[in-house]
Amino acid sequence: MNQQLMNQLWVWDAQELRILGQGLAQAHARAGEHAHCHRGCFSCCLGPFPITALDALRLQRGLDALHLADPPRALRLSARAAEAWAALLPHFPGNPATATLDESAAEQTLYSPTLQMLPCPALDLESGACELYHHRPVACRTFGFAVTLDGTRLDPCSLNYAGLSREQWEPLRLTLDPPSPPPAPLPPGLTVVAAALALFTPASPACPPVGPPATAPTAPPAPPASPA
Ligand code: SF4
Repeated sequence: MNQQLMNQLWVWDAQELRILGQGLAQAHARAGEHAHCHRGCFSCCLGPFPITALDALRLQRGLDALHLADPPRALRLSARAAEAWAALLPHFPGNPATATLDESAAEQTLYSPTLQMLPCPALDLESGACELYHHRPVACRTFGFAVTLDGTRLDPCSLNYAGLSREQWEPLRLTLDPPSPPPAPLPPGLTVVAAALALFTPASPACPPVGPPATAPTAPPAPPASPA
């Protein structure tokens, strides 16, 4: 894809993420006292899960920005990604050369007990924070509360709505606005966070971050979607 189209996609992406964030803030508010997402809770950041190719590119932009803002931190993150990708590689359900997931086999393998305790390489285990928070995948954003997106009913994290039965939390479900059509075809395919970060070489010093500059560990991994 040429750079001009890609730039248009990034503008669209930033706008869609902003709208999604507003919807998810509403879902959080609707959960009220039953919302338990907080900084340092990272149970939703364990185990690999599918991300889109656009998510992967966004994560790489975040890592690129981190290499500029805080090279030692970026190198530590890259090392974790290399380790995570090496651990995943023997089980990877798809084409390891291109890191493209085979969707039909992904669920059974990625959500196996062997892999489900592997921390995401973007997670700083000391602080429990996502180091690429502003660049995190859409699945990381939509997991947590009972929301419906694009006709898909996403179940919440089991830590939210604690003490409530499904009959009690279902009425708190929020239907989010579907994304607007992208200005260009989205890059195809699915992959995983570890591959997106391990296979990336920082090479574009002019690449701006999508969100605020990544100068310090950011807020907690808010509601990632175990796409499970
Ligand atoms: S929120 Fe960040 S640390 Fe958590 S799974 Fe997503 S990318 Fe990884």
